[in-house]
Parts: sequence; structure tokens; C-alpha cells
Amino acid sequence: MPELPEVETVRRQLAPRLEGRMLVVYRVSDPRWTAPRAPNEVLGPLVGRRVERLQRRGKYLIAAFEDELFLLMHLRMTGNLLYDAEPGAPYTRAILGFDDEHTLSFVDPRRFGTGWLLAGEPELDAYLDARLGVEPFSDDFTGEHLRALARGSRAPVKAFLLDQRRIAGVGNIYADEALFRARVHPLREAGRLTRAQWELLRDTVREALSEGIDANGASIDDFRDLDGARGSFQDRFLVHRRAGEACPVCGGPVRKLLAAGRGTYVCERCQPRPRGARIVPMTR
Ligand SMILES: [Zn+2]
Repeated sequence: MPELPEVETVRRQLAPRLEGRMLVVYRVSDPRWTAPRAPNEVLGPLVGRRVERLQRRGKYLIAAFEDELFLLMHLRMTGNLLYDAEPGAPYTRAILGFDDEHTLSFVDPRRFGTGWLLAGEPELDAYLDARLGVEPFSDDFTGEHLRALARGSRAPVKAFLLDQRRIAGVGNIYADEALFRARVHPLREAGRLTRAQWELLRDTVREALSEGIDANGASIDDFRDLDGARGSFQDRFLVHRRAGEACPVCGGPVRKLLAAGRGTYVCERCQPRPRGARIVPMTR
């Protein structure tokens, strides 16, 4: 599932190609992409308008058109954006055509991805603020802020990191990598982390995300960049997807267990298990 680094990878590649271009035509072959609105309601108002900026918030990619019209795209599980895709590319759900004769295709085998239109900055902010917490590369992302958000929480810290309403953009891969680097067990209660652990986790979340962006994201299943190439962060995972391998720090075994309902990778020598934690091992 694309996380912040994968969406940011697409944004960085797409911005110079899209900014300043005018939408001239579109075709939506799967109306579920814009449901419950009709495709014409979402894309019709954008025809004849130029893309001023391409932004990202959490895992949303936002094309800001003239007159404060915003097209929000979310890739969800298996969505990909392709630039100048072959005609008839499989799983194409929507194609946007621009005045330079280039096209942007939204392809998505599992069809959970979405396209949505919002008008005006206030509506955009309200929509995003209702769904997304602090942005990891913003000034508000501090150890103290995270500690305050987690105060009293008995949820495992992994669940806390994955909650988009608290922290925007972190998913399964980057949560595992950040927790390992901070030597914090994913099942530790979020409300019980120390100030020092939150400071460290703040840094390691940013580190893991930055490395992901530098590697053009991770392609463990479907993610491809704008030109259909795979990211390479999966080659640099320290623990994620490395069950049975040796921990790169201590040489102990990397294990897979269940945390926050997700397959989670951990070295329990580096990340001591909290007392009383119920461990559910996973074999695959
Ligand atoms: Zn270790």
C-alpha cells in the first residue's frame, strides 16, 4: 500500500510535468473512482483550467487547479498514476488529457483508489483536517507533540503510528522501520513511552520516510512510479519483511508478529518486549 514516500515520489516526478498545464479532456471508465459523485461532477469543472501546483498531504495527492479547485487523488491499496501510459493499459480507471498532449492515467486493480473535487481553500483544509493529523515533515511534528497526542493511550504504539488522524502518511512499512530504529517494541502502550523515546521516534519516523523518498519509495507489491519503474526502498528494509533473517544491529532473529492487526517485524533483543504483552506470532 503506498505510504507517504511513495506518494511524495509521484508528486516530485509529476509536478514539473503537470504544473502550468491545462486539462482539456478526460475519460473515466470506472465511475467508482469518483463515487458517490458522477465523474462529470468531479472532472467537468476542471476542464479548461490549469494546474497551478501539485501538493501532498498525508497519502493524498492534490492537484491545485486555477480558481481554487482541488482534485484529490488517493491511491489506497493498489492505485498507481502513470504518465503517457500505453493505450488500453489494464485496470485503467481514469485518464486525464492535457494541453501538451500528454496524459495521466489512474490505474488500480483493486479499485479502492479515489478522485475527489473540493472548491476553495477552507473546504480543502476542513476535509483534510477531519482526516489527517500532523504531517511528519512539518514543524509541529515534535516529540513533545507526539507525547501529548498519546497521553493516556493504551493502544500499542504501532497502532498509534498508523492512525492517520494522529500522524499523516505513516503506514505499515515505515512504522516497523521507525520503531526498530528507535528500539521501541511495537506492542508497547503508546501512553507509556518516555519523553526520550518520543524524541527518538520523532527522528526515526522522519529518517525512515526520508530514506524511502530517496529510494523512490518501496515496491513490495504494486507500487510503481510515474513511469512504471519500481522503487528500491524494499532493498534497504532493516526488519520489515525480513522474518528469519539476522537483525542488522545485534544479529538476533527478526520475528514476525501481529500488532495493530498487521504483520509486524521486530527484533526483540533490540526492541524489548513489554511485560505482559500478548504475542501472536505470524509465520507468513
Ligand atoms: Zn537486534
